[in-house]
Amino acid sequence: MSGGIDTLRLTAEEAIGLVERGEASAAELHAAYIEAIAERDPELHCYLRTLDEPNGTGIPIALKDVISTRGIETTAGSRILEGYVPVFDSTVAERCRAAGLSVLGKTNTDEFAMGSSTENSAYGPTRNPWDPERVPGGSGGGTAAAVSAGLAPWGLGSDTGGSIKQPSALCGNVGLRPTYGSVSRYGIVAFASSLDQIGPVARNVRDCALLYSLIAGRDPRDSTTVELPEPVRLPEAGDLKGMRIGVPRELNEAEGIEPGVAAAVAGAIELARELGAEVGECELPRSVEYGLACYYLIAPAEASSNLARYDGVRYGARVDGETYVEMVERTRDAGFGDEPKRRIMLGTYALSAGYFEAFYGQAQKVRTVIAREHAAAFERFDVLVSPTSPTVAFRLGEKAANPLAMYLSDLLTIPSCMAGLPGLSIPCGLSAGLPVGLQLIGPQFSENALFRTAHALEDALDFDPVPERLR
Ligand code: GLN
Repeated sequence: MSGGIDTLRLTAEEAIGLVERGEASAAELHAAYIEAIAERDPELHCYLRTLDEPNGTGIPIALKDVISTRGIETTAGSRILEGYVPVFDSTVAERCRAAGLSVLGKTNTDEFAMGSSTENSAYGPTRNPWDPERVPGGSGGGTAAAVSAGLAPWGLGSDTGGSIKQPSALCGNVGLRPTYGSVSRYGIVAFASSLDQIGPVARNVRDCALLYSLIAGRDPRDSTTVELPEPVRLPEAGDLKGMRIGVPRELNEAEGIEPGVAAAVAGAIELARELGAEVGECELPRSVEYGLACYYLIAPAEASSNLARYDGVRYGARVDGETYVEMVERTRDAGFGDEPKRRIMLGTYALSAGYFEAFYGQAQKVRTVIAREHAAAFERFDVLVSPTSPTVAFRLGEKAANPLAMYLSDLLTIPSCMAGLPGLSIPCGLSAGLPVGLQLIGPQFSENALFRTAHALEDALDFDPVPERLR
């Protein structure tokens, strides 16, 4: 605690209240978080770099290091971008600054957001505040762990196949992957452009909705963005009368879901029924069966194209060579870690002549099937629910040597990402002392319905987001 500011408990909305009423200045708030970072971040390693001086008139925020920030090194967790200092702000960073938010620092991520544990960061892993022997999830483990450990009131992550939802689940936070096209990708280090979305991570649903309202909406610099069809509504206390909640069998009974996770999610579904929701079963058979395989063709294919720009000339690190080609080869060999190399190879293969139709083209067709299957479910239901992650936070090293085991962490988050749909993860209980995430999925631009549903559940669940060992 610093100057009476308890960063572990303070919500963003409360922090805004403190500033508005003149009970704390922006500088005092920033300093309180920097002090908390100095105390707890040496163990957790949520931040790759911090900004010790306040740089806004409002409350602080943490930004995942894939978000370009003018004058602040941005590495995406990769050696190949070491020393790269953007000369411009991404649109989301610009919107945060316009709202007065004071950037606390850039948070750790798996290299190029490829991973589910932050162990793929070239700068070392982040640890889970609930148990430092365990991972915080990934790729946005830095932001999620920072919010959960009181090292930021809220933060931004990026989600391609689960990198906001899954770490939020493993750290006990609320994380939103917005509808594809609702938040600008301008100035984001690109991974898979048809999937990447920036979104908020917060300690509760109202904070999450508030941060979403600050960043969402059309950006002329990203042609895939649109104006939101309706303004973001901060959810108020209420019940779930009239809300139709679907429970997709395959997402709730998938192999590998831990019994403790299933039990916590079943409890939350029962609670939704008590709050007045109509709950029914539904199916997403092909989405779950083929989603992951399809993702691991499309995402690496797009990544292999996006990562071609790192050549030692335009950004970051360079290893010199006799010729241009030798310089590029050496730079890429030294600059990329194993996971980006694996994905560049997979993607280049899937896109090569003769294989394009069989792999990439076929995966795109399956993607359409996945979108249709979800659309059919939304004819009967307003919101679909499932566990966010099949497991609670796993131990560091447990899956690092087996890429396939790691990829399965996103089995439940990937299908809706493929369909461009918004997904919200909220904590719904503990299993073996670790947080369990409940995933809520809605049709495109249904964020308000997700917030309303999640807020009603959050009130009833009364989950304490402060890790037990820090209370
Ligand atoms: N874990 C998934 C992957 O490695 C998703 C990552 C993400 O959403 N950025 O690709």
